[in-house]
Amino acid sequence: MKIFCVGRNYAKHAKELNNEVPTTPLIFMKPKTALLPNGLTFYYPEFSNDVHYEGEIVIRISKSIKSLEPSRVKDFIDGVSVGIDFTARDIQAKCKEKGHPWELAKSFDFSAAIGDFVEMDLEEISKSEIKVLKNGEQVQHGSALDMIFDIPTLVSFISHRFTLHRGDLIYTGTPAGVGPIARGDVFEIYLNDKRLLVTDIK
Ligand code: ZN
Repeated sequence: MKIFCVGRNYAKHAKELNNEVPTTPLIFMKPKTALLPNGLTFYYPEFSNDVHYEGEIVIRISKSIKSLEPSRVKDFIDGVSVGIDFTARDIQAKCKEKGHPWELAKSFDFSAAIGDFVEMDLEEISKSEIKVLKNGEQVQHGSALDMIFDIPTLVSFISHRFTLHRGDLIYTGTPAGVGPIARGDVFEIYLNDKRLLVTDIK
């Protein structure tokens, strides 16, 4: 399986990191070894001093897709969840400065926390809200309605370049409110008031 992630898909988040709003989707990938299932602990990696959380809505692909038009995407999604795109912001800053790829900052082991999946049709997913609680306090809140590139556009765009298979995941980008994690933190992520992911940091 493959894990795709979308960068800068909410205008307010692009702005908080002083990035331009993209005119085509910004896509990167994480390997399968990046997955951290719901309920497990995230261990702070020794190679970074500034790991950030990015809470995101995650969709799951239901069957093989190649070059799909946006209007047909609704038949190719079989679940939705939430996840955390853990990002070593200090490493990413160096990558950006040098024009290097982002994998060292984004794709390390357990950098993709993933919640439990629920079934939902595309129409419902497209107006879903994500809420991130850090130690019980809300730090991120976003609606899929505010995505710069909506889900049909993202899936279509990706499928024109990469064949998608059943089980592939797409992290659809983070709303504003990202920030650093610390040992002892507990994150809870909700999709429409359903808690789908809990992880603690050690
Ligand atoms: Zn992200």
